[in-house]
Amino acid sequence: MKPVIALVGRPNVGKSTLFNRLTKSRDAIVADFAGLTRDRHYGDGRLGDREYIVVDTGGFEPDSSTGIVKEMAKQTRQAVAEADTVIFVLDVRNGLSGQDQDIARYLRQCNKRVLIAVNKAEGMQDSPLLAEFHELGMGEPHPISAAHGQGIRSLLEAALEGFETDEDDLLDAEEGDKPQVIRLAVAGRPNVGKSTLINTWLGEERLVAFDMPGTTRDAISVDFERNGQKFKLIDTAGLRRKGRVFEAIEKFSVVKTLQAIADANVVLLLLDATQGVTDQDAHIAGYILESGRAVVVAVNKWDAVDSYQREVLERQIQTRLAFLRFAPILHISALKRQGLGPLWKALADAYSSAYRKMTTPVLTRLIHEAVEHQQPKRAGTFRPKLRYAHQGGMNPPIVVIHGNSLEHVSEVYKRYLEGRIRDHYKLIGTPMRIEMRSSK
Ligand code: GDP
Ligand code: GDP
Repeated sequence: MKPVIALVGRPNVGKSTLFNRLTKSRDAIVADFAGLTRDRHYGDGRLGDREYIVVDTGGFEPDSSTGIVKEMAKQTRQAVAEADTVIFVLDVRNGLSGQDQDIARYLRQCNKRVLIAVNKAEGMQDSPLLAEFHELGMGEPHPISAAHGQGIRSLLEAALEGFETDEDDLLDAEEGDKPQVIRLAVAGRPNVGKSTLINTWLGEERLVAFDMPGTTRDAISVDFERNGQKFKLIDTAGLRRKGRVFEAIEKFSVVKTLQAIADANVVLLLLDATQGVTDQDAHIAGYILESGRAVVVAVNKWDAVDSYQREVLERQIQTRLAFLRFAPILHISALKRQGLGPLWKALADAYSSAYRKMTTPVLTRLIHEAVEHQQPKRAGTFRPKLRYAHQGGMNPPIVVIHGNSLEHVSEVYKRYLEGRIRDHYKLIGTPMRIEMRSSK
């Protein structure tokens, strides 16, 4: 699973600036899960082929007079609890303040790996001002400049140490073969019925919990089988092992949801028929789309709505989740165990779509036929020429088209091509990507 880095520190030390630096500002989609998290931001980042999630605990205002532990926002505590590494951000120009000492005291008792980032230290790699931060006794301070991009790489390398990409994962990806086990994540905001559905599926006694070896955290997943197909259900509920018991940090966890989506082959997005499609649903859907995972939408609590509400809901889904048009939409009742058979079929179909094998001759024929039927528009003196195509990846399927002047192919035309490829291969429930490679 993607490691999680939490940025902690008092206001104005440069956490947001560092967040943007670490995420390359891709947080627009994950922006804020409105109403769930007031002050936190989530973003994806990547160092080489190593991916991670960053959480900025922006709004945290410590109050020395009452003691940091009490006053530290619950949200920040959760971010720290869910993090693999905490980056404690300080401002070199201010030195160590009482508030910093309070935060340090809290972090020391959290049993987390904490890195000290001394920010605004542009051009100060060897400055005597840094010495003061050794006093914290939390390891060697990393002088950085979030604004100017100095010291970021070595800070990030330290943060990700021990979370190297799994060799086995890389092998799997290279072979491109379908994994034997479908990794399934059930995503949705609180109260849509995730636990009810999962319990219906599994029955308590069949729950098997595993520890993930080789990392400091304990992830929880459940293995089970349906119709001869093996599934691994990836936890999104924010559960952590605490000693010998599992502790729910919070019923809904954005970090766990993001990690589980990234770790899944197929995501089941659960909606609540009685609530309609909310902003939070749309945010989660947006993140799933961004991840490239296969997706099935299930509207739960179908038993609790009348035919008028059902119609309204259908229209809402068509407009608010228009960007998931490729996903099948099912109507279920987890409570009454209705619609679950078709749901299994949809999940398995989405999965096999995501891993569909497409050969170069067939793809090439498909694009030639598409061009015959409708040519790409001329751009000035250039007419894009599509020569051949091959498959560049799976989950999601990637089609790489080779030819000339392909940079002039419009988005509309790409969508037209995608439609023809989808039709031919019956791709349902998976996004797909088209990449253009011009040879001159
Ligand atoms: P936050 O409240 O901790 O999220 O802090 P911000 O990221 O909003 O930054 C607070 C102020 O510090 C802003 O005016 C930033 O431009 C400035 N700042 C952030 N990083 C640096 C840095 O590396 N060097 C300098 N000189 N200023 C910085
Ligand atoms: P979670 O927060 O997504 O895990 O949601 P829960 O599984 O805890 O369900 C929230 C509430 O919705 C509970 O009161 C459930 O009994 C109820 N619920 C779940 N599924 C259904 C359903 O299919 N129909 C109806 N009417 N209620 C449901």
